Amino acid sequence: MYIRYCQEEVSGLGRVSMVGNNFVIHDVYLLEQKVSATNTVLSPKDLSNFLVKMVTDGDDPEGIKLWWHSHVDMPVFWSNIDEHTAGSFRNKWMLSLVGNKAEEFRIRLDIFDPFRLTIDGLELKIDFSDDLIMTEDVKKEISEKVSSVNPFPVFFDFDVAQALVDHRLRLSQRRKK
Ligand SMILES: [Zn+2]
Repeated sequence: MYIRYCQEEVSGLGRVSMVGNNFVIHDVYLLEQKVSATNTVLSPKDLSNFLVKMVTDGDDPEGIKLWWHSHVDMPVFWSNIDEHTAGSFRNKWMLSLVGNKAEEFRIRLDIFDPFRLTIDGLELKIDFSDDLIMTEDVKKEISEKVSSVNPFPVFFDFDVAQALVDHRLRLSQRRKK
């Protein structure tokens, strides 16, 4: 949905659980972000804001096991930046998904612990119905969260666990004041 209605290379995260031998992606989140036509800029600040909001809403950020992004009208493949990002997560495992407006998807699993392994080309089954209300919500969310900037690639080490620890620390410090 996000990929279909946004002209930019948006990205975000999602919640994944294992059901038998299958991964089920249930919630997909669009981060507040600045993007350009050629580079997705997903900053630690965007990520931290996202985690803060999630904890404030009473959700559990530990199930965040999906990184997704859009290639808009380009084919789905792993660019150098994508390889770097997909390889920089600190979870035990992480799914990465890239999609485009032609509704092509590519999905891979990166295992980091107890050993390092990448399995590319997983099968994706999509199970949702397009209803009008959701479409409007998605368009509204995109206009609120995504702003365009000049091309400027940013690399960062994505560490959900560390961001969480930092966040809890800040929360407890805030309470003490
Ligand atoms: Zn990409």
